[in-house]
Amino acid sequence: MISSPRKVAIVGGGLAGLAAGVRLLELRPDTQVTLYTLGHHLGGKATSYQDDAGFAIDHGFHSISTNYRRFLDLLSRAGIDRSRTLVSDRGTYYYDDRTRKVAQSGEATDARSREEIGQMGAFFLKNLATIYGDDNIEQYDDICWTAWAVERGLAESATRTRSFRFSQDALFNWPHEVSAYITLKSIRLLGGSAKYYLVDGTYGEDIIDPIVNRFRKLGGTVEMFHKLVHVLHDGRRVTELRFAQPDFIFHNHGRSKWERSVRTFPDRVKTVGGFDQVILAVPVDCLRELNPGDTAFWRGFPGVKNLQTVATLSFQVWTEQNVLANRSACINGLDEPLPMVVDYKHLKKRYRDDDRIGSALEWVGQETTFEKLSDDELKSKAYESLLCIPDAKDPRKSGLVRECLNRNTANHERYLLTDPGTLRFRPHSRTHLANLFLAGDWIRNAVDVPTMEGAVCSGYTAVEALLKEE
Ligand SMILES: Cc1cc2nc3c(=O)[nH]c(=O)nc-3n(C[C@H](O)[C@H](O)[C@H](O)COP(=O)(O)OP(=O)(O)OC[C@H]3O[C@@H](n4cnc5c(N)ncnc54)[C@H](O)[C@@H]3O)c2cc1C
Repeated sequence: MISSPRKVAIVGGGLAGLAAGVRLLELRPDTQVTLYTLGHHLGGKATSYQDDAGFAIDHGFHSISTNYRRFLDLLSRAGIDRSRTLVSDRGTYYYDDRTRKVAQSGEATDARSREEIGQMGAFFLKNLATIYGDDNIEQYDDICWTAWAVERGLAESATRTRSFRFSQDALFNWPHEVSAYITLKSIRLLGGSAKYYLVDGTYGEDIIDPIVNRFRKLGGTVEMFHKLVHVLHDGRRVTELRFAQPDFIFHNHGRSKWERSVRTFPDRVKTVGGFDQVILAVPVDCLRELNPGDTAFWRGFPGVKNLQTVATLSFQVWTEQNVLANRSACINGLDEPLPMVVDYKHLKKRYRDDDRIGSALEWVGQETTFEKLSDDELKSKAYESLLCIPDAKDPRKSGLVRECLNRNTANHERYLLTDPGTLRFRPHSRTHLANLFLAGDWIRNAVDVPTMEGAVCSGYTAVEALLKEE
């Protein structure tokens, strides 16, 4: 029986938790909502902070599709003026390692690539009804995207092109394969006539802060530095939540990284109760840390142990001279582990108007099979991959201003791998504990692709389920 007014605890201050909090208070303004989160940055993976010297450090490059209906609507409700905050990404470019040329998506670099682009076009046309239609595409989760495409008529040579491989790169799945279901869902979300935006500013200040302000204005409360360590329950309902205080010596305000599991002070623990319902919006590896040995808790999440995650990489470099003349758009298809790079110089106001910055580069990737490389070795790999681009100059010889490499290895930073056959292991929002609901980009939802739109959608799905429980 839910008390009046309803009291809800949300754990996890990423987009899923924030979207759930805003949505819940919009639908039921009399609810008392408290959002608990681990560190001192809200926004989770979709955030950034300013370092002491004023550089905007990203958790990782993020772009927004015009098809992010729920996410864009949330921005509007948070009072964000899209015409000022978002900027077009000016198209996607690929580096073709065979011809050593950079071309826009759909543009040929030689006769062979023209033929491959033609084959891709014919393949998409032939399968249009499945890609965009009403077929039950969940049945394709067991098969990898490459096999699915070849089975449906795509020439094997076309699957080796960098633009085809981008479907794996962008989901961080390489060297694994992406499930055909997830790729089809991501084509629906990211493909077709969708255009892309970047944030003309920073995620932390321009996107997350206004969403947090909206949550607070609606009456929500935020509690930082609360690491959930145990969910207390009676087998049917959650009764209390146990939090420990993270030991921020190991974090140092973003200047150093947390370890795989965030350490806590053993004597600074508090147990919170008195709420009716709980939304857990934490990444899969953080959920896995909870309630060790508690079979009554874990029987509800039998598949979660099978899910795999990956440590993403982000590398930002500022130089005095311009190193990527006239290439102010994302370039994909570079060598792993950092296959995508963008120069923000002409894209973002803050760099366009700053004569001291010639290029503001950001690479993104993930570290599978490169885990043993040192930071310096990873940086060299990034520079080498950049130098494949025709006319690119070496940032190390172009007045290096600042370098920032982030290896997102900790549990709360890792990203879900969407290998074939994993859909059945991803839990739904409802759980075996009647007042516990899950949200997060890895929880099943109508979007199902681990993106900002997926995270927001999962938050809304959790709220819908929660409001059905009276
Ligand atoms: C490098 C990179 C690039 C990306 N690029 C894009 C892109 O271009 N476009 C796109 O749409 N998406 C992109 N994504 C995906 C997108 O960032 C995520 O899907 C989305 O931000 C996930 O939101 P979330 O709320 O589900 O999880 P998170 O953002 O992971 O939030 C989880 C929150 O829970 C907190 N937490 C964890 N454990 C605990 C605990 N025990 N107690 C309390 N709090 C806890 C964390 O601190 C965090 O605040 C990218 C991701 C990465 C890593």
